[in-house]
Amino acid sequence: MFNNLSDKLDKALHVLKGHGSITEVNVAETLKEVRRALLDADVNFKIAKEFTNKVKEKALGQNVLTTLQPGQLMVKIVKDELTELMGGDVEGINLSGNPSIVLMSGLQGSGKTTFSGKLANYLKNKKTKKPLLVACDVYRPAAIDQLHVVGDQINVEVFSDKGNNDPVAIAQAGVAHAKANGFNVVIIDTAGRLAVDEAMMTEISNIHKAIEPQETLFVVDSMTGQDAVNTAKAFNDILNFDGVILTKLDGDTRGGAAISIKSVVNKPIKFIGTGEKMEAIDVFYPSRMADRILG
Ligand code: GDP
Repeated sequence: MFNNLSDKLDKALHVLKGHGSITEVNVAETLKEVRRALLDADVNFKIAKEFTNKVKEKALGQNVLTTLQPGQLMVKIVKDELTELMGGDVEGINLSGNPSIVLMSGLQGSGKTTFSGKLANYLKNKKTKKPLLVACDVYRPAAIDQLHVVGDQINVEVFSDKGNNDPVAIAQAGVAHAKANGFNVVIIDTAGRLAVDEAMMTEISNIHKAIEPQETLFVVDSMTGQDAVNTAKAFNDILNFDGVILTKLDGDTRGGAAISIKSVVNKPIKFIGTGEKMEAIDVFYPSRMADRILG
Protein backbone atom coordinates (compact mmCIF):
# COMPACT_ATOMS: atom_id res chain seq x y z
CA MET A 1 0.00 0.00 0.00
CA PHE A 2 1.40 3.40 -1.01
CA ASN A 3 4.83 1.90 -1.76
CA ASN A 4 5.81 4.66 -4.10
CA LEU A 5 4.93 7.40 -1.63
CA SER A 6 6.69 5.53 1.18
CA ASP A 7 9.85 5.20 -0.89
CA LYS A 8 9.85 8.85 -1.85
CA LEU A 9 9.26 10.05 1.70
CA ASP A 10 11.93 7.69 2.96
CA LYS A 11 14.38 9.20 0.49
CA ALA A 12 13.27 12.71 1.42
CA LEU A 13 13.81 12.05 5.12
CA HIS A 14 17.03 10.10 4.60
CA VAL A 15 19.31 13.00 5.57
CA LEU A 16 17.35 13.64 8.73
CA LYS A 17 17.39 10.01 9.76
CA GLY A 18 20.90 10.44 11.11
CA HIS A 19 22.97 10.79 7.96
CA GLY A 20 25.26 13.81 8.20
CA SER A 21 24.84 17.02 10.11
CA ILE A 22 21.52 18.78 10.06
CA THR A 23 21.35 22.38 9.02
CA GLU A 24 18.66 24.85 8.12
CA VAL A 25 19.55 24.25 4.49
CA ASN A 26 18.99 20.51 4.51
CA VAL A 27 15.78 20.88 6.54
CA ALA A 28 14.47 23.20 3.83
CA GLU A 29 15.64 20.77 1.13
CA THR A 30 13.96 17.90 2.94
CA LEU A 31 10.67 19.75 3.18
CA LYS A 32 10.81 20.50 -0.52
CA GLU A 33 11.32 16.79 -1.22
CA VAL A 34 8.43 15.89 1.12
CA ARG A 35 6.18 18.29 -0.75
CA ARG A 36 7.25 16.79 -4.06
CA ALA A 37 6.52 13.28 -2.79
CA LEU A 38 3.02 14.33 -1.71
CA LEU A 39 2.32 15.98 -5.06
CA ASP A 40 3.48 12.85 -6.87
CA ALA A 41 1.06 10.84 -4.74
CA ASP A 42 -1.78 13.01 -6.08
CA VAL A 43 -2.17 15.19 -3.02
CA ASN A 44 -3.70 18.54 -3.88
CA PHE A 45 -1.13 21.34 -4.27
CA LYS A 46 -2.61 23.58 -1.57
CA ILE A 47 -2.75 20.74 0.96
CA ALA A 48 0.85 19.71 0.26
CA LYS A 49 2.00 23.31 0.68
CA GLU A 50 0.09 23.81 3.92
CA PHE A 51 1.47 20.52 5.19
CA THR A 52 5.10 21.47 4.72
CA ASN A 53 4.47 24.96 6.12
CA LYS A 54 2.98 23.44 9.27
CA VAL A 55 5.91 21.05 9.67
CA LYS A 56 8.30 23.98 9.27
CA GLU A 57 6.43 26.07 11.85
CA LYS A 58 6.45 23.24 14.36
CA ALA A 59 10.14 22.60 13.76
CA LEU A 60 10.92 26.27 14.37
CA GLY A 61 8.65 26.37 17.42
CA GLN A 62 10.46 23.42 18.96
CA ASN A 63 13.92 24.74 18.06
CA VAL A 64 14.61 21.46 16.35
CA LEU A 65 18.15 22.32 15.30
CA THR A 66 19.27 22.89 18.87
CA THR A 67 17.98 19.56 20.16
CA LEU A 68 20.06 16.42 20.63
CA GLN A 69 18.45 14.40 17.88
CA PRO A 70 17.08 16.95 15.44
CA GLY A 71 16.58 14.44 12.63
CA GLN A 72 14.43 12.09 14.64
CA LEU A 73 12.38 14.97 16.02
CA MET A 74 11.76 16.22 12.47
CA VAL A 75 10.64 12.77 11.36
CA LYS A 76 8.27 12.65 14.34
CA ILE A 77 6.84 16.06 13.45
CA VAL A 78 6.23 14.88 9.87
CA LYS A 79 4.51 11.72 11.15
CA ASP A 80 2.33 13.64 13.60
CA GLU A 81 1.27 16.10 10.91
CA LEU A 82 0.49 13.29 8.48
CA THR A 83 -1.68 11.63 11.15
CA GLU A 84 -3.44 14.92 11.82
CA LEU A 85 -3.98 15.48 8.10
CA MET A 86 -5.65 12.08 7.74
CA GLY A 87 -7.96 12.63 10.68
CA GLY A 88 -6.25 12.49 14.06
CA ASP A 89 -8.38 10.34 16.35
CA VAL A 90 -10.22 7.21 15.21
CA GLU A 91 -13.94 7.72 14.71
CA GLY A 92 -16.46 4.90 14.93
CA ILE A 93 -19.85 4.76 13.30
CA ASN A 94 -23.01 5.88 15.03
CA LEU A 95 -25.34 2.94 15.60
CA SER A 96 -27.49 4.56 18.26
CA GLY A 97 -30.85 4.20 16.48
CA ASN A 98 -33.22 1.29 16.78
CA PRO A 99 -32.91 0.23 14.10
CA SER A 100 -29.80 2.21 13.18
CA ILE A 101 -29.94 3.28 9.58
CA VAL A 102 -26.77 3.47 7.50
CA LEU A 103 -27.06 5.05 4.05
CA MET A 104 -24.42 4.37 1.40
CA SER A 105 -23.67 7.01 -1.21
CA GLY A 106 -21.13 7.29 -4.00
CA LEU A 107 -20.55 6.81 -7.70
CA GLN A 108 -21.23 3.60 -9.58
CA GLY A 109 -18.26 1.28 -9.31
CA SER A 110 -16.90 2.93 -6.17
CA GLY A 111 -17.58 -0.23 -4.18
CA LYS A 112 -20.88 0.57 -2.42
CA THR A 113 -22.48 -2.84 -2.82
CA THR A 114 -19.31 -4.67 -1.84
CA PHE A 115 -18.82 -2.42 1.16
CA SER A 116 -22.47 -2.76 2.23
CA GLY A 117 -21.86 -6.50 2.44
CA LYS A 118 -18.55 -6.09 4.22
CA LEU A 119 -20.10 -3.77 6.81
CA ALA A 120 -23.06 -6.12 7.35
CA ASN A 121 -20.65 -9.01 7.84
CA TYR A 122 -18.43 -6.97 10.16
CA LEU A 123 -21.42 -5.96 12.31
CA LYS A 124 -22.96 -9.42 12.25
CA ASN A 125 -19.72 -10.83 13.65
CA LYS A 126 -20.03 -8.45 16.57
CA LYS A 127 -22.95 -10.64 17.73
CA THR A 128 -25.08 -7.81 19.15
CA LYS A 129 -25.98 -6.60 15.69
CA LYS A 130 -28.52 -8.08 13.31
CA PRO A 131 -28.16 -6.25 10.01
CA LEU A 132 -30.56 -6.08 7.08
CA LEU A 133 -29.36 -5.06 3.62
CA VAL A 134 -31.72 -3.02 1.44
CA ALA A 135 -31.30 -2.77 -2.35
CA CYS A 136 -32.35 0.65 -3.64
CA ASP A 137 -30.82 0.68 -7.12
CA VAL A 138 -33.91 0.83 -9.33
CA TYR A 139 -31.98 1.31 -12.58
CA ARG A 140 -29.85 -1.79 -12.71
CA PRO A 141 -31.61 -5.05 -11.87
CA ALA A 142 -28.15 -6.62 -11.86
CA ALA A 143 -27.24 -4.43 -8.90
CA ILE A 144 -30.12 -5.90 -6.90
CA ASP A 145 -29.01 -9.42 -7.84
CA GLN A 146 -25.45 -8.53 -6.85
CA LEU A 147 -26.59 -7.49 -3.36
CA HIS A 148 -28.51 -10.78 -3.04
CA VAL A 149 -25.35 -12.70 -3.97
CA VAL A 150 -23.43 -10.76 -1.33
CA GLY A 151 -26.18 -11.35 1.25
CA ASP A 152 -26.15 -15.11 0.53
CA GLN A 153 -22.38 -15.21 0.96
CA ILE A 154 -22.49 -13.70 4.43
CA ASN A 155 -25.85 -15.06 5.52
CA VAL A 156 -27.53 -11.69 5.85
CA GLU A 157 -31.08 -11.05 4.64
CA VAL A 158 -31.54 -8.68 1.70
CA PHE A 159 -34.72 -6.65 1.26
CA SER A 160 -35.56 -5.72 -2.33
CA ASP A 161 -38.58 -4.94 -4.47
CA LYS A 162 -37.80 -5.58 -8.15
CA GLY A 163 -40.16 -3.68 -10.39
CA ASN A 164 -40.72 -0.88 -7.90
CA ASN A 165 -39.03 2.20 -9.36
CA ASP A 166 -39.31 4.46 -6.32
CA PRO A 167 -36.10 4.21 -4.27
CA VAL A 168 -37.54 6.31 -1.43
CA ALA A 169 -40.48 3.93 -1.05
CA ILE A 170 -38.16 0.89 -1.12
CA ALA A 171 -35.90 2.42 1.53
CA GLN A 172 -38.89 3.17 3.75
CA ALA A 173 -40.33 -0.30 3.24
CA GLY A 174 -36.91 -1.75 4.10
CA VAL A 175 -36.81 0.16 7.39
CA ALA A 176 -40.37 -0.95 8.20
CA HIS A 177 -39.39 -4.56 7.42
CA ALA A 178 -36.41 -4.24 9.79
CA LYS A 179 -38.60 -2.87 12.58
CA ALA A 180 -41.17 -5.62 12.14
CA ASN A 181 -38.58 -8.39 12.07
CA GLY A 182 -36.10 -7.49 14.78
CA PHE A 183 -33.20 -6.19 12.68
CA ASN A 184 -31.26 -3.52 14.59
CA VAL A 185 -29.14 -2.18 11.70
CA VAL A 186 -30.40 -1.32 8.21
CA ILE A 187 -27.77 -0.81 5.52
CA ILE A 188 -29.17 0.90 2.46
CA ASP A 189 -27.30 0.43 -0.81
CA THR A 190 -28.22 3.09 -3.37
CA ALA A 191 -27.77 3.61 -7.09
CA GLY A 192 -24.72 5.44 -8.34
CA ARG A 193 -24.00 7.10 -11.68
CA LEU A 194 -20.72 7.25 -13.49
CA ALA A 195 -20.39 10.94 -12.70
CA VAL A 196 -22.03 13.40 -10.34
CA ASP A 197 -25.30 14.55 -11.91
CA GLU A 198 -28.33 16.43 -10.70
CA ALA A 199 -30.83 13.58 -10.94
CA MET A 200 -28.61 11.32 -8.88
CA MET A 201 -28.01 13.99 -6.27
CA THR A 202 -31.74 14.74 -5.99
CA GLU A 203 -32.51 11.04 -5.60
CA ILE A 204 -30.00 10.37 -2.83
CA SER A 205 -30.98 13.59 -1.10
CA ASN A 206 -34.66 12.50 -1.16
CA ILE A 207 -33.81 9.11 0.32
CA HIS A 208 -31.69 10.84 2.97
CA LYS A 209 -34.51 13.21 3.94
CA ALA A 210 -37.11 10.44 4.04
CA ILE A 211 -35.26 7.94 6.21
CA GLU A 212 -33.07 10.23 8.33
CA PRO A 213 -30.11 7.84 8.69
CA GLN A 214 -27.91 7.92 11.79
CA GLU A 215 -24.95 7.41 9.55
CA THR A 216 -24.50 8.50 5.95
CA LEU A 217 -21.35 7.11 4.42
CA PHE A 218 -19.66 8.23 1.23
CA VAL A 219 -17.89 5.40 -0.57
CA VAL A 220 -15.04 6.32 -2.89
CA ASP A 221 -12.51 4.48 -4.99
CA SER A 222 -9.05 5.52 -3.80
CA MET A 223 -7.60 4.82 -7.25
CA THR A 224 -9.41 7.88 -8.64
CA GLY A 225 -6.90 10.24 -7.00
CA GLN A 226 -7.84 13.92 -7.07
CA ASP A 227 -11.23 13.07 -8.57
CA ALA A 228 -12.04 11.24 -5.35
CA VAL A 229 -11.65 14.50 -3.49
CA ASN A 230 -13.82 16.44 -5.95
CA THR A 231 -16.57 13.82 -5.82
CA ALA A 232 -16.43 13.81 -2.02
CA LYS A 233 -16.94 17.55 -2.02
CA ALA A 234 -19.97 17.32 -4.34
CA PHE A 235 -21.63 14.63 -2.20
CA ASN A 236 -20.82 16.40 1.05
CA ASP A 237 -22.40 19.63 -0.20
CA ILE A 238 -25.68 17.76 -0.72
CA LEU A 239 -25.66 15.18 2.09
CA ASN A 240 -23.36 16.57 4.78
CA PHE A 241 -22.30 12.95 5.22
CA ASP A 242 -20.79 11.52 8.40
CA GLY A 243 -17.83 9.60 7.10
CA VAL A 244 -15.84 8.35 4.16
CA ILE A 245 -15.14 4.78 3.08
CA LEU A 246 -12.02 4.49 0.99
CA THR A 247 -12.05 1.38 -1.18
CA LYS A 248 -9.49 -0.44 -3.29
CA LEU A 249 -6.54 0.50 -1.11
CA ASP A 250 -5.13 -2.91 -2.03
CA GLY A 251 -4.64 -1.71 -5.60
CA ASP A 252 -1.95 0.46 -7.08
CA THR A 253 -3.29 3.65 -5.53
CA ARG A 254 -0.93 6.54 -5.00
CA GLY A 255 -2.57 7.52 -1.73
CA GLY A 256 -3.52 11.12 -2.46
CA ALA A 257 -7.21 10.55 -1.67
CA ALA A 258 -6.45 9.04 1.74
CA ILE A 259 -4.26 11.98 2.60
CA SER A 260 -6.41 14.81 1.20
CA ILE A 261 -10.06 13.93 1.79
CA LYS A 262 -10.26 14.79 5.48
CA SER A 263 -8.93 18.28 5.03
CA VAL A 264 -11.18 19.05 2.05
CA VAL A 265 -14.53 17.87 3.46
CA ASN A 266 -13.60 17.78 7.15
CA LYS A 267 -15.17 14.36 7.59
CA PRO A 268 -13.28 11.33 8.87
CA ILE A 269 -12.34 8.27 6.86
CA LYS A 270 -14.04 5.52 8.89
CA PHE A 271 -13.26 2.29 7.08
CA ILE A 272 -11.07 1.13 4.24
CA GLY A 273 -11.64 -1.62 1.71
CA THR A 274 -8.60 -3.73 0.94
CA GLY A 275 -9.90 -6.37 -1.45
CA GLU A 276 -12.95 -7.90 -3.09
CA LYS A 277 -13.62 -10.45 -0.37
CA MET A 278 -16.15 -9.82 2.40
CA GLU A 279 -13.41 -9.91 5.02
CA ALA A 280 -11.35 -7.21 3.33
CA ILE A 281 -12.50 -4.35 5.57
CA ASP A 282 -10.50 -2.44 8.15
CA VAL A 283 -11.22 0.38 10.55
CA PHE A 284 -9.17 3.38 9.41
CA TYR A 285 -6.55 4.42 11.95
CA PRO A 286 -4.81 7.63 10.82
CA SER A 287 -1.74 7.04 13.00
CA ARG A 288 -1.29 3.47 11.77
CA MET A 289 -1.61 4.66 8.20
CA ALA A 290 1.00 7.38 8.83
CA ASP A 291 3.30 4.74 10.35
CA ARG A 292 2.79 2.58 7.32
CA ILE A 293 3.50 5.41 4.90
CA LEU A 294 6.59 6.64 6.74
CA GLY A 295 7.93 3.21 7.52
P1 GDP B 1 -20.88 -0.10 -6.67
O1 GDP B 1 -21.28 0.11 -8.10
O2 GDP B 1 -20.50 1.19 -6.00
O3 GDP B 1 -21.89 -0.85 -5.86
O4 GDP B 1 -19.52 -0.94 -6.68
P2 GDP B 1 -19.28 -2.52 -6.48
O5 GDP B 1 -19.44 -2.87 -5.04
O6 GDP B 1 -20.07 -3.29 -7.47
O7 GDP B 1 -17.72 -2.62 -6.80
C1 GDP B 1 -17.19 -2.39 -8.08
C2 GDP B 1 -16.01 -3.31 -8.31
O8 GDP B 1 -14.96 -3.01 -7.39
C3 GDP B 1 -16.35 -4.78 -8.07
O9 GDP B 1 -15.70 -5.55 -9.04
C4 GDP B 1 -15.78 -5.07 -6.68
O10 GDP B 1 -15.41 -6.42 -6.51
C5 GDP B 1 -14.58 -4.16 -6.67
N1 GDP B 1 -14.20 -3.73 -5.30
C6 GDP B 1 -14.98 -3.17 -4.36
N2 GDP B 1 -14.25 -2.90 -3.25
C7 GDP B 1 -12.97 -3.28 -3.50
C8 GDP B 1 -11.73 -3.23 -2.76
O11 GDP B 1 -11.63 -2.77 -1.61
N3 GDP B 1 -10.62 -3.73 -3.39
C9 GDP B 1 -10.68 -4.25 -4.66
N4 GDP B 1 -9.55 -4.71 -5.20
N5 GDP B 1 -11.82 -4.29 -5.39
C10 GDP B 1 -12.95 -3.82 -4.82
